[in-house]
Amino acid sequence: MQNKSSLPPWFDGFLGVAYRYYDLRMNVVPLFSERKHATNLWNETIHWWNDHTIKLRFVETGEKYWFIMGSDSKKPENNKSLFKILSKSEHYERFKAGHGGEAYLTLGVYAIVHKKGAKDDTVCNCKHRLDDHEEGDSDACLIEECSCRKFESFQVNILKRKKTITDIKFLQEEQVKEDPLTWNCLYANKYKEMN
Ligand SMILES: [Zn+2]
Ligand SMILES: [Zn+2]
Repeated sequence: MQNKSSLPPWFDGFLGVAYRYYDLRMNVVPLFSERKHATNLWNETIHWWNDHTIKLRFVETGEKYWFIMGSDSKKPENNKSLFKILSKSEHYERFKAGHGGEAYLTLGVYAIVHKKGAKDDTVCNCKHRLDDHEEGDSDACLIEECSCRKFESFQVNILKRKKTITDIKFLQEEQVKEDPLTWNCLYANKYKEMN
């Protein structure tokens, strides 16, 4: 048991979280813009987590939610807990409905894809394919009701190493006091600053 003073610090230096099906199981993928930042976090911290002690928590507040993840570590001096306040998305809702109590944890590298690096069927952030966009200098979307003026897509490259999460909970804010990891996160990153 760790005492209060040795609780790992909170880390939110990642871009967001992707939720994807790979290998028949939902994957939870914290995203980085630089591969070396992802591999550093994995090597220094997540590698040392004991799989069965990894806790994944979600707290919804209106259109946003708190992503909270932490674990006991074989190398406590390097341990960190992750949190990020994110906007709800289709992928998040699909994860919430479909995780079945288990997920893989892996890290990802998020890269923007411009027209030059895209194929005809690459889907733009406006949800329409590249070949639905103008050719030539302008690459505005041609779908009539769409206001997209510039093709832009993204790609998530998933790192190979993964851990299994089996402790996943969706909480209401009034329940967080009963969950030490979640309470510590909201206390350190929300309530303390309100005082
Ligand atoms: Zn577009
Ligand atoms: Zn469009």
